[in-house]
Amino acid sequence: MKNFKSIASVVPPPPYHMVGDGFRVHNFFPSDTLIGEKGMDPFFLMDYNSQWNIPPSEKQRGVSVHPHRGFETVTIAYHGKVAHHDSEGNSGVIGEGDVQWMTAGAGILHKEYHEKEFSKNGGIFQVVQLWVNLPKEFKMTRPKYQPVRKQDLTRVDLDGGSYVELIAGNYMDRTGPASSFTPVNLFNAHLKKGTVAGFSFSKDFNTGLLVAEGQININDSEIAQVDNFVYFLHDGDNISIEAIEDSILLVMSGEPINEPIASGGPFLMNTEDEISQAFNDYYSGKFGYLA
Ligand code: MN
Repeated sequence: MKNFKSIASVVPPPPYHMVGDGFRVHNFFPSDTLIGEKGMDPFFLMDYNSQWNIPPSEKQRGVSVHPHRGFETVTIAYHGKVAHHDSEGNSGVIGEGDVQWMTAGAGILHKEYHEKEFSKNGGIFQVVQLWVNLPKEFKMTRPKYQPVRKQDLTRVDLDGGSYVELIAGNYMDRTGPASSFTPVNLFNAHLKKGTVAGFSFSKDFNTGLLVAEGQININDSEIAQVDNFVYFLHDGDNISIEAIEDSILLVMSGEPINEPIASGGPFLMNTEDEISQAFNDYYSGKFGYLA
């Protein structure tokens, strides 16, 4: 396999900041200046809570009730448990390997926090949250909630006990369970030491990967350590990954939406007027109610 996508950059985790009191995150984008020539559209934001050993607590840490509009939040748990409630009446807990895909669309209130037992016992916490943008025609779509448990993920077995779990999109003629509004590939690759895995994505797509665990050699040319994010250019179709240690990778590739972006707080729209409207609608109670 050649015709490799060149590596734009291998980025170590930026200094973390807190989201509420429950998420200690490295924001790889949009704040990153090394993002590559086109950004990661349709992936607008990626907050990465790298492994954090949380002491036992009676209080459930997290983020209290807040709104979203105009995009989807995709939360992927690697360690620990995240609970969620929203104003559409959806709730759930995701644990190790589970995924939650929430379409905020026209507007939703939700809260995100550590699950009760996990809080009580404490332990290692490691989670990714992506904000996947919606195209203009679907920004005001009805809110939707897709809980995707680890056992629901489409599993593609590779040699030697390695496997790729499809959250959304396609790999080796298989399809992941989560539906998206624009073409998105989102996989967890579990690669045993010594495994070489190949991925192919359209040149036009924006492509990157997070090393959630382990260490890899990309395209036989560059090493990425744990907690690094790798951005690819648009000059080839293929990526070759060799696991130097047992590794877990979050691989993402999506077709850019290529529409104007106006971002304001928890809203992601096309114009500043639409951001103002979102704040007005939120303050006037149009996002529903959540205790
Ligand atoms: Mn949120």
